[in-house]
Amino acid sequence: MKKLALHWKIIIGMVLGIIWALLSSTMGWSAFTINWIDPFGTIFINLLKLIAVPLVLFSIIGGVANIGDPSSLGRMGGKTLGIYLLTTIMAISLGLLLVNTFKPGKLIDEQSRIDNRISYEIWADSQGYEIKDGISYLKDPAFMKRAQEISDLSNAELKDAAVQDKMESAEKGKETTPLQPLVDIVPDNFFHSLSTNGLMLQVIFFAVFFGVCLLFIPTEKSQPVLNIVDGINEVFLKMVDLVMQAAPFFVFALLAGVVSKMAGDDIGKVVEIFKGLSWYSLTVLAGLLLMIFVIYPVILKVFVKKIPYGGFFKSMGPAQTLAFSTSSSAATLPVTMECVEQNLGVNKKVSSFVLPIGATVNMDGTSMYQAVAVIFLAQLHMIDLTIGQQVTVVLTATLASIGSAAVPSAGLVMLIIVLDSVGLNPAWIAIIFPVDRILDMFRTVVNVTGDATVCSIIADGENMLDYKEKDPTETFDLDS
Ligand code: ASP
Repeated sequence: MKKLALHWKIIIGMVLGIIWALLSSTMGWSAFTINWIDPFGTIFINLLKLIAVPLVLFSIIGGVANIGDPSSLGRMGGKTLGIYLLTTIMAISLGLLLVNTFKPGKLIDEQSRIDNRISYEIWADSQGYEIKDGISYLKDPAFMKRAQEISDLSNAELKDAAVQDKMESAEKGKETTPLQPLVDIVPDNFFHSLSTNGLMLQVIFFAVFFGVCLLFIPTEKSQPVLNIVDGINEVFLKMVDLVMQAAPFFVFALLAGVVSKMAGDDIGKVVEIFKGLSWYSLTVLAGLLLMIFVIYPVILKVFVKKIPYGGFFKSMGPAQTLAFSTSSSAATLPVTMECVEQNLGVNKKVSSFVLPIGATVNMDGTSMYQAVAVIFLAQLHMIDLTIGQQVTVVLTATLASIGSAAVPSAGLVMLIIVLDSVGLNPAWIAIIFPVDRILDMFRTVVNVTGDATVCSIIADGENMLDYKEKDPTETFDLDS
């Protein structure tokens, strides 16, 4: 029998996981699933993340030091950041186009939008924001009464601990000087960066610094270090192969856990969650799917002629399915690297530098979703953002996506900053919170696919792309 490619096995695992969760929800077994199956999903993510941090460290050191000459490193670094920025801005623009065309927020019933508008005005007033039109609502005692009710209601909703926590942590991050993001990249204690989640940029900074310095010391001293670094990289890649053998099972556990936690013992809840937010979710999904199936392939067709449409998806299948099931581009990174190197034929010198940086700073899916979410929430509150405000959204969504950690829900937390930048209420993240995990799965696939696309363009430009049609069942073979 022909061996099944890994991404098909992962998809089967995912589907079985969902079926199991739905079954266990109708049979009242959710507690069993959460206690006895879900932990294997957590183990899987832990294993992938365990590999990701040291892999980023050693692969960047190796990548930088193996380039051999500092000027080509500078050229590649500049190109990498430039193209990453371009794809992000493209994604946001597409998101803005879709949300302004379909207007999902305006499809919600008029009365609740008026209620929303009043509560927004109360909030904006308390923040000292000036609102030119609509303030007349506040003069009417009947509206005032309704407004008070609404604001009590939304305050009660905000007590939702998870949302409150997220807001507090993002608020804390906000009270800083403009140069703070730069300061945050430079660690004062590298071991702290390694051991703390979300400090990947510090790890990248250290690795590039270390790699560059390796280039400047005599070869007889640097070569042994480089040999060790290369050897360690091989070990990590073998770890990835090993973990991936069990991925279909782990993914089953992961999905069973995620869906069980959403549904509890009542599947009806999942349907309810989606009803109110369906137009918003469909707009985000349309944008994300366009990115994956149209925009990236067109970019590849134009800039890298040698990778065919089907070949790209076959090559990236394992990374894409894994991004979907883990919702974390950091956890997926080791597999992304292997797919890009082994299947797309990108030289390690390029991928080991471009991909870890991409996983951390290039999040096209996240930035597009943030743009759609902000405009949707504005529409829901009867607020039309001006062109100037939409440009601000482009800028802040770019920065927020760069600042988002590559872990589940990071994009939602950073949305607070985008909302804040155009004078909207950050607490609104609570409104879209219920559907966020599902959209997170799709946007993580876009994030990973975008990194792979840019990596192929850079490799092709450096003459370091050697794509050959390959049997995808060979990827992650233990003896390959
Ligand atoms: N989960 C996303 C990622 O890891 C980030 C986000 O949009 O929340 O790429």
